[in-house]
Amino acid sequence: MKQRFLKTAFITRLGLLLTSWAFVFSVQAQKKMVITVDDLPGVTQYYRTPDGKYQMNQRLIRHFTAHRVPAIGFVVSSWLYRNGVPDSNQVKVLKIWLDAGLELGNHTFSHKDYTVITIQDYFNEVIGGEQITKQLVEERGKSFRFFRHPFLRKGETPAKKDSLERFLARRKYREAPVTVDNYDFLFSQAYDNALLKGDTAAAAEVGRHYLDYMMAYVRYYEAQSDSLFGRPIPQTLLTHANTINAAYLGELLTRLEKSGYSFVSLDEALNDQAYQSADRYMGKGGISWLHRWALTQGKKGAFFKGEPEVPPLITQLAGTR
Ligand SMILES: [Zn+2]
Repeated sequence: MKQRFLKTAFITRLGLLLTSWAFVFSVQAQKKMVITVDDLPGVTQYYRTPDGKYQMNQRLIRHFTAHRVPAIGFVVSSWLYRNGVPDSNQVKVLKIWLDAGLELGNHTFSHKDYTVITIQDYFNEVIGGEQITKQLVEERGKSFRFFRHPFLRKGETPAKKDSLERFLARRKYREAPVTVDNYDFLFSQAYDNALLKGDTAAAAEVGRHYLDYMMAYVRYYEAQSDSLFGRPIPQTLLTHANTINAAYLGELLTRLEKSGYSFVSLDEALNDQAYQSADRYMGKGGISWLHRWALTQGKKGAFFKGEPEVPPLITQLAGTR
């Protein structure tokens, strides 16, 4: 009898243990992230040779392959040209992205700010953004289907925002949201400057700050999605094709994995209901979609508190030439 009781108690405890493990795993499994990379073929002061950006992207892609990340890169098509003709050193950047099984999307022709140009000029920017990349993507039997707004600006008036949404839908684009917005480009400028001065100690310090800063941003937006949706949502991280990500993205991916993230495609993330949330934000700000949804729901000041700041050391170093 006693033995039977013990056995039952053991099985019950084992059951509880398994349930709590399953709970931990299911919570962890829910943490998903899309890695998006803007401004291809890249922005760098350090990789200066004709095929410098190609080398930089090779390093970037190695991180994605090692961590099995189905990343998406957004291309600024005018940056693929040199003296009016396609520059093979830039075009081959796109080829290695596609060869690695990664996706490419439209980031306009010349990265103009929608708030300072007309609707028609912006439409031409979208169409111009199809040059070279769209054909390369379609040659591989894939579709060129995502659009990322430069500066995350969607239009500061109802007319601009609505007409762009309709125009993109007509051309069969889905808008690529960003939930984890940040200033990675400032760190990359600081990193470039440190490397160009030959100050490897300063460069390493920028790298350390960068990792902490990005993780702080991820936690900030995690907390916001928890309070807005009551659960973790698949996050969309904004990064850029730049020097610091070529060097440090692998370590960032490792840190994200350790905090429970797995990496998914943009397509998969957008299946989550959260991305169907209404966005009626109208303004010049290029802000996170989480903030757009929160503002649409009437959230006020306190909700937005605690955004990580770029350390003064980094802004100082970024401004040095
Ligand atoms: Zn951009």
